[in-house]
Amino acid sequence: MTSCFDVIVAGVGAMGAATCSALARRGVRVLGLERFDIPHALGSSGGHVRLIRKAYYEHPDYVPLLELAYRQWHALELRTRSSLLFQTGLVHAGRPDGELIAGVRRAASRHGLAIAALDAQELAARMPPLHLPEGYVAIHEADGGFVLAERSIVAFAQDALAHGAELHARERIVHFEARERGVHVVTERGAYDAARLVITAGPHAPRFLADLGVPLRVTRQVVAWVRPKREAPFAYGAFPCYAIEGDPAEGAGLHYGFPALPASFGAGPPALKVGHHALGPLTDPELLDRGLGVGDEAGFRAGLARHLPDANGPLLAAQVCMYTNSQDGHFILDRHPAHASIALACGFSGHGFKFAPVIGEALADLVLEGRSALPIGFLSLARFERP
Ligand SMILES: Cc1cc2nc3c(=O)[nH]c(=O)nc-3n(C[C@H](O)[C@H](O)[C@H](O)COP(=O)(O)OP(=O)(O)OC[C@H]3O[C@@H](n4cnc5c(N)ncnc54)[C@H](O)[C@@H]3O)c2cc1C
Repeated sequence: MTSCFDVIVAGVGAMGAATCSALARRGVRVLGLERFDIPHALGSSGGHVRLIRKAYYEHPDYVPLLELAYRQWHALELRTRSSLLFQTGLVHAGRPDGELIAGVRRAASRHGLAIAALDAQELAARMPPLHLPEGYVAIHEADGGFVLAERSIVAFAQDALAHGAELHARERIVHFEARERGVHVVTERGAYDAARLVITAGPHAPRFLADLGVPLRVTRQVVAWVRPKREAPFAYGAFPCYAIEGDPAEGAGLHYGFPALPASFGAGPPALKVGHHALGPLTDPELLDRGLGVGDEAGFRAGLARHLPDANGPLLAAQVCMYTNSQDGHFILDRHPAHASIALACGFSGHGFKFAPVIGEALADLVLEGRSALPIGFLSLARFERP
């Protein structure tokens, strides 16, 4: 016997959990299906914390969505009585004409965002242990900071359940099909019918969406937690989040990190979380190597040695995660071109988490109304169409 829902959400990571919450709050009968636990650390949304910032170097068109995301994170905090967003400030550093600094300035000037250039003295006051190469400049963004990752997924799930959603963990979807009326979804445990389907399968999206004809490349990414050699300068409250343009000789990208959080955050023992935002090796999510290799450690140690030598202490933890990269590094958020009853979000390319509440609302709009009033046109599939 099949159970019947208004909408099924395939995958309850960050985006799926946010979508379940958005749909349930609209009074829709929603079922969220997740193959692992809610939350879990085997996809793209584990690892305790994610950076959030508004002066978006990737593209200024993200800024209106970010303004909304900040408001929605605060609304979620209120609804679920949880603390999720922490505006510690964020220091961006790089060459004045590099992608990061030029992009931060462009987004800030186009949208009137408050950012402040820091001279060496001001930088030393904001972030004492930072070493920058000759020719680098630094910009402080007071709105920047982090969101708690797993805790946010819990909050979305809590919100969804409170509004009547049904969530099933440890239930892998093995097949789905769009029928004349609605969709049919088969899992390892049962079968479900619904009027509509939202696909938020993260790194597994290529399997769900092979017929889209849009390439998605899944890459292996490593993050680490290191115990700073000196504790006080890196502690939460003293140290901001940071993003520093990498050395082209070492794969460029961005070295990023977070203050060492007290254990009360539930993010493990106090340690600096650090990562290198540059595309790792291609991987199949079913065959992902979760071990930490020597090369992996070299990746994040290089940034620490160069910019934060006082933080370059013993390793306390590491995690292997995945990016799902679109061709142009921008998200894909749309209705399925062949099936009006299906909406999808994928290709977050390593920078989607901060947008989760907005993505949830946009997917709820797309799957229920077929369109959204949110400014998401630049993320649609139409951009890949050949002229
Ligand atoms: C190392 C790293 C650092 C990052 N840093 C940042 C950052 O600082 N700031 C930021 O904004 N973003 C960051 N991101 C990106 C952000 O975390 C992702 O964009 C976001 O988590 C993607 O969420 P998702 O819901 O699409 O994917 P996921 O969280 O992976 O969710 C997809 C879900 O679908 C489930 N699923 C898949 N197949 C099936 C199936 N057959 N049946 C049932 N369920 C299924 C999976 O188990 C999974 O739970 C980072 C990502 C990584 C990996």
